[in-house]
Amino acid sequence: LDGRPDNWAEQFNAIMCIVGITGIGALTLGLNHARAARQHRLEARTDMLTGLLNRRALFDSLSCERLAPGHAIVAFDLDRFKAINDQYGHAVGDEILRRFAEALRQNLREGDLAARTGGEEFLLVLRDASLQIATSTAERIRAIFAESHIDTAKGRLSATASAGVALVNGEGESFEDVLLRADTSLYRAKDGGRNRVVTGLQAVA
Ligand code: GH3
Ligand code: MG
Ligand code: MG
Repeated sequence: LDGRPDNWAEQFNAIMCIVGITGIGALTLGLNHARAARQHRLEARTDMLTGLLNRRALFDSLSCERLAPGHAIVAFDLDRFKAINDQYGHAVGDEILRRFAEALRQNLREGDLAARTGGEEFLLVLRDASLQIATSTAERIRAIFAESHIDTAKGRLSATASAGVALVNGEGESFEDVLLRADTSLYRAKDGGRNRVVTGLQAVA
């Protein structure tokens, strides 16, 4: 060869190379954008400390919904949590929150939802649950959490949680109405001495 081949086939080849490289670049960029968008959507719905759903995710999917009979809501609130933070520090408090989330996760069935809805407040939405199933689930979570402990620089630490349970009535009910009843039961659990589950007017533990 005494020079670079120069004919239509070579030119076509060069153009196809450029088109191919540009196409692959655009495709990679598109895939990265899609992955980043998916990650953002997931992060917007996730509570970063515990990995559970956050308040917005739960309320976005259930607010203004009519919950069918068989759904139950359990509202949990950790007991005297401010004192734990004050005494052991925020990092220990965070670890306690993660432990509680783990106790929740261990007791979820397919289709149940668990969210951290506030600082030390959690909601469980159960499907296909009777009052007895919802109450025993809440009680199991309460007991597992109360019996667990973490070792800190200031010694062994256990924490407790209170819970209120409400079951959707026979005709179906709004998420907000059931939540209100679960919260009322939760306040009764606090008033009754904490570290207990209250269903309607009845304390379980
Ligand atoms: P009660 O038994 O009546 O629920 O008392 P409490 O101390 O748990 O309730 P209170 O509402 O007074 O305190 C809640 C505390 O939760 C106060 C706040 O410092 C703490 N908190 C909120 N968010 C976080 C968090 O993300 N990490 C940690 N470590 N603490 C948090
Ligand atoms: Mg609270
Ligand atoms: Mg509390």
